[in-house]
Amino acid sequence: MRPNFDKADGLLSVILQDSSTGQVLMNGFMNEEAYEKTLQDNVVWFYSRSKERLWKKGETSGHIQIVKSMALDCDADALLIQVDPQGPTCHLGTQSCFGDDHFNLQTLSKIVDQKVDYPQEGSYTSYLTEEGLDKILKKCGEEMTEVVIAAKNNDRQELVNETSDLFYHMLVLLKQQDVSLKEVEDNLEIRHGQNLSYKVRGNIEEW
Ligand code: AMP
Ligand code: ZN
Ligand code: ZN
Ligand code: ZN
Repeated sequence: MRPNFDKADGLLSVILQDSSTGQVLMNGFMNEEAYEKTLQDNVVWFYSRSKERLWKKGETSGHIQIVKSMALDCDADALLIQVDPQGPTCHLGTQSCFGDDHFNLQTLSKIVDQKVDYPQEGSYTSYLTEEGLDKILKKCGEEMTEVVIAAKNNDRQELVNETSDLFYHMLVLLKQQDVSLKEVEDNLEIRHGQNLSYKVRGNIEEW
């Protein structure tokens, strides 16, 4: 499908989103030429309304936005672009123009990756990884047990705390085993698609 530039009065509203964390980064505008250049170069081009010219995002800062995927909205006058940002997207220095309070498992996963790839003095993640697989597995087992106890005790806050511990240690384990959180998410998405047939076959309790 093509954007409907007529409907958009010549300027498509464009939202950039970090393809790995889902963080919304920036809003900008594209005329048809900016859109074509974006498709050609696979990096984001805008039309600057204030400068009244084409503008390659990152042309002076170097913080270009590599295109991973694109989606038009329902009536094709707005565009969502999932990007791999090469540095902070906002010219004020934050990752996002809307502030950096975004946090989810993918954000944590990226932090864990960094602590493993670039070990730091005093970092628990670096320590765990240096200790190795058996230590990480032992921690995962312990945290799962603590989750069970919290649930049995109907202690909601403990359940939140211990689930946080478990998820964090699972991310360390996945990293140690060279499995990305994205692979798990993709697998969950496939299962979601198959959900109906599983129910029909009556296999649901196998999960
Ligand atoms: P850049 O495209 O990153 O090289 O930045 C060049 C200029 O574009 C900056 O000095 C700002 O005037 C403007 N600019 C860049 N990024 C943004 C942004 N996220 N929001 C608004 N203006 C921006
Ligand atoms: Zn629309
Ligand atoms: Zn900004
Ligand atoms: Zn715990």
